[in-house]
Amino acid sequence: MKRENFDIAVIGAGASGLMAALTAKQHTNGSVIAIERLSRVGKKILSTGNGRCNLSNISVNENFYGGEKNFLNFLDKNIFSAVELFSTMSLACKTDSEGRIYPYSNQASSVLDALRFAVSNAGVELLCDTLIKDIKKTKSGFILAADDTEIFAKRVIIACGGKAAPSMGTDGIGYELAKALGHSVTRLYPCLAPLRTDVNSVKALKGLRIYARASLIQNGEIKDSQTGDVQFTDGAISGICIFNMSDMASLGKNEISLDIAPDYDKKQLFDMIYNARALRENLEAVELLTGLFHKRFSQSILKACNISPGIICGEISDKDISVICKKIKDWRFNVTGLSDWSLAQVTGGGIPLCEIKDGLQSAICDGLYFCGEILNIQGKCGGYNLDWAWKSGYTAGKNAAQSLN
Ligand SMILES: Cc1cc2nc3c(=O)[nH]c(=O)nc-3n(C[C@H](O)[C@H](O)[C@H](O)COP(=O)(O)OP(=O)(O)OC[C@H]3O[C@@H](n4cnc5c(N)ncnc54)[C@H](O)[C@@H]3O)c2cc1C
Repeated sequence: MKRENFDIAVIGAGASGLMAALTAKQHTNGSVIAIERLSRVGKKILSTGNGRCNLSNISVNENFYGGEKNFLNFLDKNIFSAVELFSTMSLACKTDSEGRIYPYSNQASSVLDALRFAVSNAGVELLCDTLIKDIKKTKSGFILAADDTEIFAKRVIIACGGKAAPSMGTDGIGYELAKALGHSVTRLYPCLAPLRTDVNSVKALKGLRIYARASLIQNGEIKDSQTGDVQFTDGAISGICIFNMSDMASLGKNEISLDIAPDYDKKQLFDMIYNARALRENLEAVELLTGLFHKRFSQSILKACNISPGIICGEISDKDISVICKKIKDWRFNVTGLSDWSLAQVTGGGIPLCEIKDGLQSAICDGLYFCGEILNIQGKCGGYNLDWAWKSGYTAGKNAAQSLN
């Protein structure tokens, strides 16, 4: 059994853990180690933003987060922005028209490389292929146990992430470590994930994508509406605007209403379809919506309106056109559940903030800190989750280091 001593140990070398280890080392002369179960650090960062890493957003505020809303109060008051944090690592950033911030290179690997170079320059020790399975508090610190290694550390930062995307090292073991030290964990559920629906209602649409206004209807009441690309998959509806509703859809009885022609009002739609009927009088009914939608959408809409595909456009009545317009503006899909963890980008729920003090220190166990997704905070799509990971990592690292001085 290998035994080593450190002043600060960070468990998990993902987004928040790397930032925590770097910041800790920048604020103490003591030794800092970041321990990672996978064979390399920051693997998930490489997959973020479709390989481009949407690392922050120009408008970060509590409205873009679920979970506990007071999380900004826990952050170090000197952090201005994620861009500023990265500028100290010579990473240039750019902002797109929707306020999303990316590395100037458009490559997630640049973000990870900048972090890795900085961590290594600062003198942080990195230990990969090491899964911390157990943690114990002693009088003077903590003992972290892996299969063939034991690490003693005066301060510990748990940065293990949550349960989303388990193939990237995040299977929820961090919660067990936190529980071993007296913490509780709220209900956990997949977030920023597709919503499951009746398989038959989307079977014919599988693989299609459409620009739509999506509304989440919970117990009959519209709770949220967002416009963007919606994708149909095997028994699920997906896309950024759907992902952003998954937090709210985790409770209650939900439906998704799609307006698949958000640029037209009902009257404009009626007139367009009315004219198409006259022009295509002798063609099959499915051609009525040609020019508006992909043929498979047209077929599904007619089916959902109980209009036989065997008839010709000329046989479609004015009343049928009204029914079709209604369906196009309000096409309902039952939400039968959330998708599983493998398709989720983040975790809903986590360690409650009532168990955390200023500086992201545990209020239950002295010398213990947390950062990142393991806490009960989840952002919407747009760079909010990584923004939280960097800033919470900075805060936990700085405070853990300063507590030693
Ligand atoms: C496909 C995908 C795309 C995403 N895109 C974006 C995006 O563009 N913008 C955005 O803001 N957010 C995005 N996110 C979310 C964002 O990546 C996470 O919220 C963020 O990485 C969380 O940081 P973290 O440090 O808490 O956890 P993670 O980055 O998940 O890191 C946790 C690390 O801890 C390690 N670990 C866990 N347990 C142990 C243990 N016991 N011992 C040792 N090591 C351990 C894991 O292997 C992992 O490397 C995306 C997520 C996914 C899955």
